[in-house]
Amino acid sequence: MSRILDGNDPRTILHAAERLGAGEIVAFPTETVYGLGANALNEKAVAKVFAAKNRPEFDPLIVHIGDKDAASQYVTALDPRARQLMDAFWPGALTLVLPKRPIIPDLVTAGLGTVALRMPSHPVALALLRAVDFPIAAPSANPFGYVSPTTAAHVHDSLGDEAGLIIDGGPCKVGVESTVCALTDQHAVLLRPGGVTLEQIESVIGPVRTGEPTQADRRSPGTLLSHYAPRVPVVLLKPGDPLPQPEAGERLGLLSLTLRSDAHGYTRTEALSADGNLLDAAARLFAALRRLDTSGLDRVVIESVPETGMGRAIMDRLRRAAARD
Ligand code: AMP
Ligand code: MG
Repeated sequence: MSRILDGNDPRTILHAAERLGAGEIVAFPTETVYGLGANALNEKAVAKVFAAKNRPEFDPLIVHIGDKDAASQYVTALDPRARQLMDAFWPGALTLVLPKRPIIPDLVTAGLGTVALRMPSHPVALALLRAVDFPIAAPSANPFGYVSPTTAAHVHDSLGDEAGLIIDGGPCKVGVESTVCALTDQHAVLLRPGGVTLEQIESVIGPVRTGEPTQADRRSPGTLLSHYAPRVPVVLLKPGDPLPQPEAGERLGLLSLTLRSDAHGYTRTEALSADGNLLDAAARLFAALRRLDTSGLDRVVIESVPETGMGRAIMDRLRRAAARD
């Protein structure tokens, strides 16, 4: 049975740590999205995460740690770029892909020779990580391919009893997944834009390769074309496109950055920010997509946002939400 427990109650953390130690799964808050966690060193426990999410085994999990010093137990090399990025952004919304040590089971990394590591900043996540003596492998706590959860209720709504225990730590402040950056050869590669911006990363380690994923990067499934997708059909407008008018009898929804006064005939509208702030928009994005998805609409029109800073992660999720593989 899945139960939602208050993350601010120390008994919740103790109970969740016990469950994780016993090889069970626990859903917990991070500053990016809610994660579905298991002992990263216990392959059987990790298998339960894949089963609960219906996640294909080719999609590797992020391994969460509670302090920076633990990283060297799980990776073979921490080059100067890795250390600089950890110092600048950990705890926080940056995941680093590094060469792995054998202690990390193949199931966690989908057989890759690398592991994705992150130290989250959410106090409940950190309390949980510090209450166990192993790292926690956790993908987002949602069925594979669906919109990620940013509240405990989202986890319960889409995973139900499959989630096991759910720790409530309030709404996620960042609201989009972590940035995934590979440091496996001399070029740093942005595998997934996220809560730490490209500009922030480049200000620390210089130029980072981005753009269309290469064949090798494609093994990072956060880059799958259709992902983070609601069930309702989605149309993503290009910058400057006029708003489409609803067809006769059509129940149309709108997701815009700021409030639009020209959404005539729309059944439901959601504005992500009062003043166009992209950080606020990211924090509200997935909850707004879920509301639109459960409003009995025929179609949802989404306005593009400027593709700088946090706008890069938002547009990445919107393109995948609109894609149909
Ligand atoms: P999720 O936890 O659902 O946000 O997904 C984690 C994402 O991190 C995966 O879908 C991959 O895109 C990426 N990832 C995790 N481990 C690796 C790895 N070893 N190499 C490349 N990408 C990874
Ligand atoms: Mg996910």
